[in-house]
Amino acid sequence: MTISPATQEWLSMLSLWGWIWIIPLIERLSPLKRQAFLRPGMINDLIHTYHRVHLWTMANALFVSWLAAYAQAHGGQGPYLRGALTDAHWAVAFVSILLMGHVTFYVAHYFCHKIPMLWQFHRVHHSSLSLDSFSTSRFHVFDKFLFAGPYLFLVTYFQPDPVMVFLFISFNDFWGRYGHGNIKDPHWLGYFMSNPKFHRWHHSNHPEAIDKNFSAEFNFLDWLFGTAYYPKEGVPHSFGEHEYSNNIIVQHYQPFIDCYHIVKRDGWMALLRKPKPERADDYKAVQER
Ligand SMILES: [Zn+2]
Ligand SMILES: [Zn+2]
Repeated sequence: MTISPATQEWLSMLSLWGWIWIIPLIERLSPLKRQAFLRPGMINDLIHTYHRVHLWTMANALFVSWLAAYAQAHGGQGPYLRGALTDAHWAVAFVSILLMGHVTFYVAHYFCHKIPMLWQFHRVHHSSLSLDSFSTSRFHVFDKFLFAGPYLFLVTYFQPDPVMVFLFISFNDFWGRYGHGNIKDPHWLGYFMSNPKFHRWHHSNHPEAIDKNFSAEFNFLDWLFGTAYYPKEGVPHSFGEHEYSNNIIVQHYQPFIDCYHIVKRDGWMALLRKPKPERADDYKAVQER
């Protein structure tokens, strides 16, 4: 499959400028709940947005496509399904790419919540006090790498059509911004997709929704593994941490300081394991250690 350079250019522009400003418009037209456009941490999240776009969307779109092309040219097919998607029909390649992205995101995200060291980095994403499409990009670079690494590995290994990979990554940004957006959409959508209401529960401080809803696009893995929380009534209203910095520079060194404090207080193993349940009955207390 080939797409013209003009279409490639157009899709790149959509990632760089399109979704970032189209989704906020939809948020104003159909809000899930009334909230101010300007809020604390807005400038910080905008810096994250373009910092992330360059680092993630653009670099990945080009890098992953190049990686897949390189693997096809130099790796070839081999044992253990290496290069299995090289000659696959575009529909098979598309579904496989979607599955690779979905499974790796779900697993990485699950461990980011369960392993205290990884949580300190992922916590940056969860620190925003209100949820809108601009809060999508608030991520620590290390956290982003954790999500991208396994996906890059699978793409390189199975070698699907680079064009399909490029298309998937071009629309990746849409999914993220839509899922974090303050957008009202039909409730039933949340049974299939990580829509705004579904992902809002993931970010909420409500105890019943802690460590739920890990999915990014389609959410069947959450339903399958019992990590879905999606009540028919109500929308969560409490998010983030008041005391966490809204400064992108601080947000990039704070996790290292927090890890240092955990080691100092409870030893190295505390970075890998949460404390026993009797000490962890209050999840927030544990996360703030
Ligand atoms: Zn999370
Ligand atoms: Zn999120």
